[in-house]
Amino acid sequence: KAARFPGFKTLEEFNYDHQPGADRTLIAHLGTSTYLQEAKNVILLGPPGTGKTHIAIGLGIKAAKTGHRVLFDTANGWVTRLQEAHSRGKLAAELTRLRRYSLLVIDEVGYVPFDQDAANLFFQLVSSRYEHASLILTSNLPFGRWGEVFGDPTIASAMIDRVVHHADVLSLKGTSYRLRGHKTITSTT
Ligand code: ADP
Ligand code: MG
Repeated sequence: KAARFPGFKTLEEFNYDHQPGADRTLIAHLGTSTYLQEAKNVILLGPPGTGKTHIAIGLGIKAAKTGHRVLFDTANGWVTRLQEAHSRGKLAAELTRLRRYSLLVIDEVGYVPFDQDAANLFFQLVSSRYEHASLILTSNLPFGRWGEVFGDPTIASAMIDRVVHHADVLSLKGTSYRLRGHKTITSTT
């Protein structure tokens, strides 16, 4: 797919009964993609399997359907792309080119820690989009632990500051949806 989603997941198939942390009204509103006109961000936080990637893809598909250009990758995928551009002396051009996309999805911030170069490139990506174009970020870690990911609490807080300034933050909760089959074995319902 052009947007390179890692699968096909829709907001319509998201089960809100299983995810009390997800605000149905807010997600439905985000599904109208108006936040993209304001270059606002969406941040999805929560433990593994709570639906972060699902909602990120669902919002990405909605954005694409309303005519927006969307690109999806993991945090590491984005850093790799920027490292390649940087090594060709084309980092600024790549960041400018990416601003033509109204939405970039950055999945899985926090699973793999960044070295200093990666942290710097990631910070530049976030800065270049600040108040220009939207990001959807997902992370298994609360903001308080992003310093560990970026190896530097100063970079982490400067980045969080920009990302959160114009953003909706959704904190998903509970146990992994992937393990729900296991749960129903012991459940009475
Ligand atoms: P995360 O990115 O938070 O680790 P995912 O979004 O990949 O989790 O969800 C794991 C799997 O469970 C996916 O197949 C996803 O579609 C499904 N899933 C998670 N939460 C829900 C939900 N509330 N309703 C329907 N499917 C869900
Ligand atoms: Mg995920």
